[in-house]
Amino acid sequence: MLIGVDVGGTNLRIGVVDGLRVVNEVRIHADFSVLCRGSTPAQALQAIHTTLLAVLSDTLRQHPGVTAIGLGFPGFIVAGRVAQSPNLPGLLDVDLATPLSQALNCPVSIENDALAAAYGEYQLSLPSPQPSPVKGRGGLKRGLIYLGLGTGVGGGLIAKGVAYPGEHGVAMEVGHILVEPEGRLCGCGNRGCMEQYASASGVAFSYLEATGKQLDAHQVALRADAGDVHAIAAYDLAGEKLAQALAQIIKIVDIGHVVIGGGMSAAWIWLQPAFEKRLDHDLIPALRGKIQISLSQAGDQAGMIGAALLAHAMPVEAHV
Ligand SMILES: [Zn+2]
Repeated sequence: MLIGVDVGGTNLRIGVVDGLRVVNEVRIHADFSVLCRGSTPAQALQAIHTTLLAVLSDTLRQHPGVTAIGLGFPGFIVAGRVAQSPNLPGLLDVDLATPLSQALNCPVSIENDALAAAYGEYQLSLPSPQPSPVKGRGGLKRGLIYLGLGTGVGGGLIAKGVAYPGEHGVAMEVGHILVEPEGRLCGCGNRGCMEQYASASGVAFSYLEATGKQLDAHQVALRADAGDVHAIAAYDLAGEKLAQALAQIIKIVDIGHVVIGGGMSAAWIWLQPAFEKRLDHDLIPALRGKIQISLSQAGDQAGMIGAALLAHAMPVEAHV
């Protein structure tokens, strides 16, 4: 058994993973984002460490058969260290995993949360799941592109069975692919980033722009269900921009299986028509009709499952 932790914006979710299933889950409120904004980096790191240590100690006591712990963390992870976390400012080049591992006497690994979700979905998509004991070995040939639609849009890439974080931990920062010249201003400083249109906040903004009404993406989907043309247009724009970015990714990595996850994937019925039309338009003929698009199998548990399996697949030395 393994433990997978999904470190979210306001919640910490700890899953005991047996095979590909979460057999026990604990969810605690932990607003690390507020913590990081109101404390020094050293205090924030200490508080995060203390919170994780307490909940993981408890979980290990209850499940002594656990052999490794994986953290899915919202940030750029390089060689097992948090290089930077846009949502948790102040955490720069910090090592969360090693002190936890020493305190718990159990291997702890850390990966980007979207990459962890991608790996979870990847393992669930295999005809017979094959958690590889050593990263990159085991003859796994398939790949997977994961797109997580939430407040922003995250992504993860699995190529030939290997989770690919990139050299600076920013591989598949898909939300910041530019899809609209001189478009909406993004938090990253650029204009026209995909997530300004295709995320939950992007959909809400599109609707606000057209109607002057402030609704969240879920409420906009309900308006679309009721036939509101502005709501349908907001989701059309989101689907189109998502497809524009995805077509570029596919032309670079040539991976034919795409999984759509994250909270806003629940509104896929409203994203799908414009998405499919635009994806087909933007792909080169050799790729048209060959891309398999599926919705997440694990839903919001993908991150925990993937983080746990990556802890198993990537021993600490694999990060060196
Ligand atoms: Zn951006």
